[in-house]
Amino acid sequence: MQTLVADHPLITHKLTALRDAATETPTFRRLTDELVVLLAYEATRHIRVEHVSVRTPLETADGVRLARPGPLVVPVLRAGIGMLDGMARLLPSADVGFIGLVRDETTLQASTYATRIPADLTGRDTFVLDPMLATGGTLQTVIELLLSRGAATVTAICLLAAPEGLARLAAAFPADLPAAVRVVTGALDRELNAKGYIVPGLGDAGDRLFGAV
Ligand code: URA
Repeated sequence: MQTLVADHPLITHKLTALRDAATETPTFRRLTDELVVLLAYEATRHIRVEHVSVRTPLETADGVRLARPGPLVVPVLRAGIGMLDGMARLLPSADVGFIGLVRDETTLQASTYATRIPADLTGRDTFVLDPMLATGGTLQTVIELLLSRGAATVTAICLLAAPEGLARLAAAFPADLPAAVRVVTGALDRELNAKGYIVPGLGDAGDRLFGAV
């Protein structure tokens, strides 16, 4: 697995405001949206393209377009939905699949309650949206599902990651796998606390995006 901590000053600036407990939901949503665009720019660096030529008003120019079959974006319900608009703006032609996982707050085990993902992902670049890479249990489950359906690459885009979660994913997806697995995160925080929250973190991303329902 490859990890990129995208510690660009603009990303860190926006993440700092996101972490602030005084930041209210409307601002939190806007900052999440802006951060996704910046992170997705890094996350799509290796997206598959095919060479094309176009006629400019003056002559023919070589260029590229996204390869077919096109990319699939998978927000992890619920908090990943807060990252979908920004990603869809950057990749408007991508298909969107959905997966819902819920974490048992005692055992910290993630279980799947909803899936809408194409059965055949052969040759496709896939992008998983999940703001918090904490224990890594949720992302491991999602990445295993996408690889089992033939995805050529899986790139997880996270706002924050914990060392424990990254270590778990690195062990689960060694570098010699045929499919590339990558994590792009805006910051690598210190650790998980006893309740599985990232510290210093930003709290419960789903609650801060959508309220404590
Ligand atoms: N999920 C969250 O929303 N926040 C954390 O810190 C960990 C998991």
